[in-house]
Amino acid sequence: MFSNDYSVVVIGAGHAGCEAAAAAARLGVSVCLITFSLDNIGELSCNPSIGGVGKGIIVKEIDSLDGIMPKATDLSMIHYRTLNSSRGPAVWGPRAQVDRKLYKSAMQNIILNYSNLTVKFAEVNDIIFNDNNKVIGVKCSYDANLDLYSEKYEIIYCNSVILTTGTFLSGIMHTGHISQSGGRYNEKSSNNLAYKLRQLGISVSRLKTGTPPRLYRDSINYNLLEEQKGDDFIIPFSSLTNKIKTPQISCYITTTNEKTHQIIRENLSTSPMYSGIISSSGPRYCPSIEDKIVRFPHRNRHQIFLEQEGLDSDIVYPNGISTSLSKEVQLALLKSISGLENIEVMRFGYAIEYDYVNPQQLKPTLELKNFPGLFLAGQINGTTGYEEAAGQGIIAGINAALRLKNKEYIISRSEGYIGVMINDLIRHGVSEPYRMMTSRAEFRLSLRPENSDERLINNVLEIGLISEERSKIAILAQQKTEELISILEKILVHPHKVINGYKTLKSDGKLKNLFEILSIPGINHNDIWNIAALNITYTDNNNPDDNNNPDFNKKYEEITLYSDIIADNNINYDKNHVFNQKNDKQLIEKFYQRYPEDIRHKVYSKALYAVYNRRQANDIAMLKQNENQIIPDEFDPSVISGLSNEVIYKINKYKPRSIADLLLIEGITPTAVIAISLHISKII
Ligand code: FAD
Repeated sequence: MFSNDYSVVVIGAGHAGCEAAAAAARLGVSVCLITFSLDNIGELSCNPSIGGVGKGIIVKEIDSLDGIMPKATDLSMIHYRTLNSSRGPAVWGPRAQVDRKLYKSAMQNIILNYSNLTVKFAEVNDIIFNDNNKVIGVKCSYDANLDLYSEKYEIIYCNSVILTTGTFLSGIMHTGHISQSGGRYNEKSSNNLAYKLRQLGISVSRLKTGTPPRLYRDSINYNLLEEQKGDDFIIPFSSLTNKIKTPQISCYITTTNEKTHQIIRENLSTSPMYSGIISSSGPRYCPSIEDKIVRFPHRNRHQIFLEQEGLDSDIVYPNGISTSLSKEVQLALLKSISGLENIEVMRFGYAIEYDYVNPQQLKPTLELKNFPGLFLAGQINGTTGYEEAAGQGIIAGINAALRLKNKEYIISRSEGYIGVMINDLIRHGVSEPYRMMTSRAEFRLSLRPENSDERLINNVLEIGLISEERSKIAILAQQKTEELISILEKILVHPHKVINGYKTLKSDGKLKNLFEILSIPGINHNDIWNIAALNITYTDNNNPDDNNNPDFNKKYEEITLYSDIIADNNINYDKNHVFNQKNDKQLIEKFYQRYPEDIRHKVYSKALYAVYNRRQANDIAMLKQNENQIIPDEFDPSVISGLSNEVIYKINKYKPRSIADLLLIEGITPTAVIAISLHISKII
């Protein structure tokens, strides 16, 4: 028996590794994070951005678990947008373009100063097990040239190991017909560990991903490009951030054109994917430009977002044209694009093929079923993306630490996107790199960015994962949200009076409370908040028992009318009314201070989805009830509007006999299952 040097060893300091190490350390156990070099910590292998649709909610969930990705993002963001903002808040995608150098230094600062966390710069070459296949340590070398059987190794003993090696396991990079071993640009691959996993009998396959070329900013003609500014209103990813301090810059938009497409079509043979050099699957939802041209031949242009890699960087990341075509073809296709006619390339794009582990071998805690103490997180489990990696990392880190206490922590599908992702991975495995999308979450209307604290924090308070400061913020916000809802629920008004100017509103003439009215489309929210503010004064200045007074509603109608005047005419009061201009202005300011924008937004989202959430509960019950429903042989999925091509393809391919069979097919979203079940109920 060896004495352990550390409770948890984490291999790799990418997004999964950093989050895993920090989470385990927050739980008070000793952690050793081993990675190739300092420069490796927090490296963004591809695009310099965090968040997006689906992914942004994962980052908010990481924040609710007091994770570090949101903090590093807030310290480095240079362009923020809420994607999908024209749609409901449930599918908003907060996304920040970050300064690559600032992100990395923020992450390094956090990691190198974390309590209970030691960082070592070395290559892990082997994982050591006892006779029961229980992990007991790792072997690592400080000289990258040492081979597996050299004597010059350090052995580090530990209780658990978390493997987060990303794209490094037997990584091979391809540009045109040139292939070379590597974990990502200018970094060696991890071949000994890849060999070890296969030797252990773990089921391993290959996937691929790709990255675009990087361009010199000064060679771009910005006069020809469309500018895209970030949002004026930035919502930080971390609740501990009061204000984003980094300057914000624009990004620029251009598009491919017929000439670009022709160049690509004529030179497809130089792409390792089309010449047969690469046979593994790439990310369907983040395809290379050559894939886009082949898969969508009818499209005559594809958008490209030119994102500067940092505030003082002269390098630009062209988002949307990841490619592994030969260097000559990359240059030619770039030069065919408006604004890039004189482009100079800093580094050419490439594709990378790597080993991933079939995640069906994992428990929901991300521990391998057959190898106690060995946890896997991130790209190694078949996912793609920094956020997906970090989301798994935090769960693996928590569970590796909790293992010592014989406890575990799992997020369910109804609690969070992280839960949806891990459940999808371990249930279905992957056939292509898994990326988070809102359509994967059947409970997405209740898995919103703004309510992640409410969904997740209570369950982790007792295990001690969250700092006092962070939990106080969450508890206070929850109290204020409930307080404001109860104020709104007490105020009954005639809708047509509140919604001055919205004549199309259908009113049944019945009084409604303000919380209900808040969810009516087109409503002016300022009206609602003003009435609530006036109500507080009214009940403060008068008898609080007025709620029971028969004249009460009459008085509220008056207040409502005055609030209309406030909203429309910048305050013009009847002198006889109890309010006066000075008091009301102050009052409304006071109200806004007490219930700031984030609290008002939480209340609005709750109001908006109150009805949907009830319907969602019915859907869940219906799904459970209909699991044994038979799918008739003649069922044609293409007649159901709204089903994606992927869903239709997979149903036609696998021909499921029942709803239960359908649920087992990877890529069939729960929303699709509900639509199919309803359709079958109608036709039989
Ligand atoms: P990584 O971030 O890859 O980190 C792995 C870490 O493990 C590194 O620090 C490495 O040094 C360390 N390591 C490996 N082996 C050892 C060892 N034996 N000993 C010690 N340390 C070791 N994602 C997208 O969402 N969209 C994209 O378009 C996209 N394109 C990509 C293109 C390329 C070329 C690459 C390489 C990645 C791309 N990704 C993309 C994926 C994204 O970078 C990953 O999903 C994400 O970084 C995975 O995080 P991770 O923590 O699992 O692994």
